[in-house]
Amino acid sequence: MNTSAVHPSAVRPSAVTVIGLGPMGRAMAGAYLDAGYRVTVWNRTARRADDLVARGAVLAATVEEALAANDVVVLSLTDYAAMYAILEPAASALEGRVLVNLSSDTPEKAREGAAWAAKHGARHLTGGVQTPPSGIGTTDFNTFYSGPRDLFEAYEGVLKVITGTDYRGEDPGLAALYYQLQMDLFWTTLTAWLHTLALADANGISASEIRPYAAETLGGMGQFLDFYTPRIEAGQHAGDVERISMAVASLDHVVETTRDSGVDPLLPAAVLETFRRAAAEGYEEDSLTRLFEVFGRGAAA
Ligand code: NDP
Repeated sequence: MNTSAVHPSAVRPSAVTVIGLGPMGRAMAGAYLDAGYRVTVWNRTARRADDLVARGAVLAATVEEALAANDVVVLSLTDYAAMYAILEPAASALEGRVLVNLSSDTPEKAREGAAWAAKHGARHLTGGVQTPPSGIGTTDFNTFYSGPRDLFEAYEGVLKVITGTDYRGEDPGLAALYYQLQMDLFWTTLTAWLHTLALADANGISASEIRPYAAETLGGMGQFLDFYTPRIEAGQHAGDVERISMAVASLDHVVETTRDSGVDPLLPAAVLETFRRAAAEGYEEDSLTRLFEVFGRGAAA
């Protein structure tokens, strides 16, 4: 189908193919079934389709059959390598397909994937889903999309069955980039929380006991973002509210408390080292926001 020749609102398919039935792909296929779509599925491990088939999905016998069944093919795979492993042997069946690739990977891999799809006559939308399976089928959360604008607009109604949408631009790498930016924050923040729990636990404090305090600290982060964002954009790193020398002393206390408790100090020690490096560069009197520049200069020699 030549989607660029079709008015966006005219493209309302009522059938999709979902390839990849991990927890996310299963939730997506389920959301399409709930929305009344005819759903064809394929997965390397076929038994993961059992519940969906019981609900009315069709399990394609081959990848070619799954691709032939529908114009819109949602990919929910571990990474882009999995996409090539599945689709490369069936590449002749890709002509005319719209690949909605909701597999996580790097921006560069997404760009290569879009070019690879185009080489085989398919069009590619990159997606970065920002919710676990529990949020699939609602518009409470958004998925980042990038790729051809006409393609996104033509199929937005189909995409909205999965989650809300947030179109970031034509560059196929953009959705992956926005997704990885969120993942950078997500993994480091949740890991910090788990370290805090281990430290609390080593001192006889349970996860439940620490929960309200952790929630208060994490919930208050928005205020820091509001306060520091304009200063960072203005290149203003004055230490009028806090200073890097204070952060070094404070982190030293965290690392020592961690060691005294018999807990692995690797995580806070890495943060301490980062601040020490900034101090060594002469930024002791500056705000912690100076790290934005220190990080941006790249890895230390
Ligand atoms: P999983 O890794 O659990 O499963 C993804 C699918 O990839 C499975 O169907 C698996 O097949 C398939 N797969 C992996 N490698 C290959 C391969 N070499 N050949 C064929 N098939 C392969 O992922 P999720 O379902 O949890 O997530 C899907 C994507 O969504 C990932 O990119 C993830 O980063 C992202 N994501 C996940 C979230 C979550 O909470 N789970 C939240 C937001 C995004 P098989 O069943 O045979 O193993």
